[in-house]
Amino acid sequence: MRQTSDPAGTSHTPGLRAIPPGLHLVSTPIGAARDITLRALDVLAGADVLVAEDTRTLRHLMEIHGIPLAGRQVIAYHDHSGEGQMQRLLGLLAEGKSLAYASEAGTPLISDPGFELARAVAAAGLPMSAAPGPCAAICALTLSGLPSDRFLFAGFPPSAQGARRSFLEELAPVQATLIVYESPKRLAALLAEMATTLGGTRQAVVCRELTKRFEEVLRGRLADLADDVANREIKGEIVVLVDRAPPAEATEDSLRSALDVALQSMSVKDAATFVSQTLGVSRKIVYKIALDRSQG
Ligand code: SAM
Repeated sequence: MRQTSDPAGTSHTPGLRAIPPGLHLVSTPIGAARDITLRALDVLAGADVLVAEDTRTLRHLMEIHGIPLAGRQVIAYHDHSGEGQMQRLLGLLAEGKSLAYASEAGTPLISDPGFELARAVAAAGLPMSAAPGPCAAICALTLSGLPSDRFLFAGFPPSAQGARRSFLEELAPVQATLIVYESPKRLAALLAEMATTLGGTRQAVVCRELTKRFEEVLRGRLADLADDVANREIKGEIVVLVDRAPPAEATEDSLRSALDVALQSMSVKDAATFVSQTLGVSRKIVYKIALDRSQG
């Protein structure tokens, strides 16, 4: 068996472990070919059948890592492959075969095919596992410098103008870091539309060509990024991230209703601290209202 080695000097012999029956969702690199896990290589080396969104891309990746096909079938599959192809794969799984599924790049199902297959496998009660790995959205989030405690990945914005506007309006109030994929051709327009709909002062980040030679991370306010990008030619693969909306301004009504909910399960002191932190209002003011409400 051929071996691949890594720069740390360790080596990996793929396929020594038997791959159990079932569907194995294999994440593949989003740029740098060496961003593949040892377990992903094991699965690719040992699965009975290889299934791929693009069979040429998968063969090439296996070649790079010295994994022989060894006469195994490589079947093309994406979400529009049709019922016949899906039944064929489910049939192989029902026979107890192990299938490795890889999309064109990154994590299958994430703006990539695989969802219909995974759903059918789950519904049929057949075994399924994932060999996790690269995903452009997560890679971009970790590099962005934006809050990572809560995020919303919204895939590609629709290209039709009306649908795109509704898509952005829906995202505008969300209290989470927003992550979208976009083509370089539409990036300038998207940033301008985001500046209008989400607000030009919101912090945003554009990640381009992650893990590749021309990797670039641009940070700034939405309005400034929209201007910068409008004045240069952008190429490559893109992830756009936007900081969450600033919290809505507290009114007397919102303060009272937040306190009423909090007072159901907390002491006056704790409710005042919680609401003052959540709504960004002085604790002294909130405590006074909480005391009145608890006594009334
Ligand atoms: N399944 C992939 C994943 O896990 O990220 C996403 C596949 S989707 C068809 C392709 C889009 O992902 C690209 O248009 C781009 O928005 C984003 N993307 C993929 N690779 C990237 C990279 N190296 N740098 C920046 N964005 C990337």
